[in-house]
Amino acid sequence: MLLSNDYWEIRNTKEKGRGLFAKKDIAKGTVIGDYIGKIIHPRDAVVDEENFYLIYYHDSAAILPDLEKPGIHLLNHACVPNAWLYTYKGHTLAFALRKISKEEEITIPYLLSPKDDSCNPCPHICKCKDFRCTKTMHLSKDRYNKWRTFNEKWAKKTKRKRVSYGKELSVLATYPKTISMNYINGVNTLFEFML
Ligand SMILES: [Zn+2]
Repeated sequence: MLLSNDYWEIRNTKEKGRGLFAKKDIAKGTVIGDYIGKIIHPRDAVVDEENFYLIYYHDSAAILPDLEKPGIHLLNHACVPNAWLYTYKGHTLAFALRKISKEEEITIPYLLSPKDDSCNPCPHICKCKDFRCTKTMHLSKDRYNKWRTFNEKWAKKTKRKRVSYGKELSVLATYPKTISMNYINGVNTLFEFML
């Protein structure tokens, strides 16, 4: 089961548009939501500052969420986020990386590939205000490669269903209740968080 939506609500933020905020304490490892949307080819992805919701799915597909619906596609990026992403049966789940307290904004890393010339001027500027902020949502090459290797290793543990372009991802029949501590510890080690 996914976390019921009385645990979070959508609020407007000053600088980042809409965001998700905790209405109750959320325990570490809790699965918050599934990134549901339409499967599209990455080349059809229009990514700009106003519509930056698209999420990486795998090398040849991306997820375009329904912007009218509430959901984890409204999670904002932070350099030191309190939530993270986990690939489960080909779906992208968000889960609590640490305990998230009531009233906190829930944030994830966007984990964008290293910045290249196609991202100029780059709209993916981070305003998370953490003292560790890198000022960008793009990862360094080294960190990105390490993340991809780690994520792929874990993603292989659950089978991905075949998807076709233009199809909506449907909600899964079951979800893990919590994410394994090995995965959480792996993320923390990889990103050297001081949580
Ligand atoms: Zn930042």
